[in-house]
Amino acid sequence: MKKLFLIVGISSIVLSACGVQNDTRNQSNTEDKSSTEKEKHQNNENNHDNEKRSQHDITKKDGITYVDGHVFANKKVDLPSDYAPGENSTARKQLNSLIQDARNKGLDLVFRSGYRSYDEQDQLYKDYVARDGEEAANQYSAKPGQSEHQTGLSFDVGSDTATDDFRTSFGKTDEGMWIKEHAHEYGFIVRYPNGKEKITGYQYEPWHLRYVGKDLANTIYKQNTTLEEYFNYGK
Ligand SMILES: [Zn+2]
Repeated sequence: MKKLFLIVGISSIVLSACGVQNDTRNQSNTEDKSSTEKEKHQNNENNHDNEKRSQHDITKKDGITYVDGHVFANKKVDLPSDYAPGENSTARKQLNSLIQDARNKGLDLVFRSGYRSYDEQDQLYKDYVARDGEEAANQYSAKPGQSEHQTGLSFDVGSDTATDDFRTSFGKTDEGMWIKEHAHEYGFIVRYPNGKEKITGYQYEPWHLRYVGKDLANTIYKQNTTLEEYFNYGK
C-alpha cells in the first residue's frame, strides 16, 4: 500500500511525454489566436510569474509559441487544437539518416513513433478515459495539446527486440547510449534527459528525440542542458 502510494506520488510529478503526462492545468497560452504578439523577455508585460526573462526571442502566432524560431511545447505551454503541421520532412530525413548510420554500425535501432495530431491525441485520451476513468488516464496519457509529438518534430526510437522500448532502461542499451552521444550530429536532442525531470516536467525519456537543427542541438549537447534551461522559458 505504501509502495503504491509512493509510485502514484512520483507519477503525478513526472510522467512520460510520449502520450503520457498528468497535469490538470490547462494553460491559457492558446488564447488570442488571431493576433501575432512579439515580446522580448525584458519586456515585462507577460505576467506568467513562472517564466524568467531572458534574451531569447519569444513569438506567439496563432496560439503557437516560438522561441528563437523553434516551436515550443511542454506542460506549461500548450499547442492549439488547430495546429496540425504533419511530420516535418527535414526532421524525418535526419532521423532516417541517424537510424541508418546506427544500423550500419551494428546497432538495432528502429523508428517507433512520430507525428501525432491533436485529434489523434484527443481520441487516444478519450479512449483511455472511457476504459480506465479520467483519474487513471491522467496518470499515463498526455492531454491533447500537450504532446510534443504534435509538432511533427519529435520521434520515439526503440529496438527490434523491443525489450527496453519506452523504458528508462533504454538509455543503458547500446542503442540508447549511441543516441545520447550522436543524436546532436543529426540535429536532435534527447528532449527529456535524466536528472532534469523537475525542469522539463517529464520523466527521463532516452528514446524521445526532438529535432532542433544541428546548431542548437550541438549547443544543447555541449552544455548538457534542456530547451527550458537554454531558452530560460517554460520551466
Ligand atoms: Zn515521445
